Amino acid sequence: MGLFENKVGVIMGVANDRSIASGIAKFIHQEGGKIAYSHLPDESGRMEKRIRRVVDDLDPKLVAPCDVNKDSDIASFFLKVEEVFGKIDFFVHSVAFAPKEDIRCSTVDVSREGFRVALDSSCYSFIATARAAAKIMNDNGAILTMSYFGGEKVCAGYNLMGVAKAALECSVRYLAYDLGPRGIRVNSVSAGPIKTLAASAVGDFSQMLGLNAGIAPMGRTVTIEEVGRTSGFLLSDYSSGTTGENVHVDCGYNIMGNLGRAFERWNVEPTVTKGALD
Ligand code: NAD
Repeated sequence: MGLFENKVGVIMGVANDRSIASGIAKFIHQEGGKIAYSHLPDESGRMEKRIRRVVDDLDPKLVAPCDVNKDSDIASFFLKVEEVFGKIDFFVHSVAFAPKEDIRCSTVDVSREGFRVALDSSCYSFIATARAAAKIMNDNGAILTMSYFGGEKVCAGYNLMGVAKAALECSVRYLAYDLGPRGIRVNSVSAGPIKTLAASAVGDFSQMLGLNAGIAPMGRTVTIEEVGRTSGFLLSDYSSGTTGENVHVDCGYNIMGNLGRAFERWNVEPTVTKGALD
C-alpha cells in the first residue's frame, strides 16, 4: 500500500516540470495520494496550460487559479477544494516571489514596497493559505512549505529573500504551536539550490549551485525528486512526531563550517594578512 493511500490534499506552486512542487506532486501521486492544484491566475490561460502539461498525467482532482496575495482568491480556491474533497489531509505551499530589483540589490538598499511584496508573497501567503487549509483539514494532517539556507545564514546574492525565508521558518514554528492541539503538523524543507523559474530571479545563481556542489559533503546538488521524497515523508504519517522543524535536503551543505574538500578541489590557499596573527 502506498504512503498516501486514502489521503487527499493540495499542492500550490507547480509552474513547470522543474518546479520543486512537481517533484513533491509526482511522489505523492506515485504513493496513491489524490491532489488538487492551484496556479497563478492569468486571462490568457497560459498558466493553466503550463501546469496542465505537468499534472495531467497525475490524475489531478482540481486545477484552479489562486493568487496567494489575494484573500478572496484563497477563499474561493479552498471552497472549490472543499467541494471536491470535503476534508483534506495535507497541504503544500511551494510559493515565493520578490521584485527582481529588490533581490538583486544589497539588502541595505531594499525599498519599502519591495520588502512588503516579498514578505507578503513569500511569508504571509503561507500563514493565510495554511489557515484556509487547516479549516478543512482532518485532525492529524500535515502542512509543508519550502525554505532555503539563506534564511539562516547570509548567502551572498540571496539578500531580501533570505529575510523572507527567516520569517517563513519562524512562522512554521508558531503555526506548529497553534495547530499542534489538533495533531496538525507544520514543517519546512530547506532545499539546496535547484535551477527553477523562481531561482532565475536570484543573482549569481549558478555560483550558488557550484558552491553547493563544491562544499557539500556529498559533492553535488539535490534534485526535485529528492526534495519530493523528503517532503512526502514530512507530509506522511511516518513523521507523526515531527513538527515545527526545518529539514535540510541539501547534500549536507548546511553542516559545513569551512570549505572542506573544496579547499583542494578549487586549489584555495587560505592566506592571512601579514601581522593579523601576531
Ligand atoms: P518555481 O518558479 O517553479 O515555483 C514558484 C511558484 O510560486 C510558481 O508556481 C509561481 O507561480 C508561484 N507563485 C509566485 N507568486 C505567486 C502568487 N502571488 N500566487 C500564487 N502562486 C505564486 O520555483 P521553485 O524553485 O520550485 O520554488 C518553490 C519554492 O521553493 C519557493 O518557496 C522557493 O523559494 C523555494 N526554494 C527554491 C530553491 C531553489 O533553488 N529553486 C531552494 C530552496 C527553496
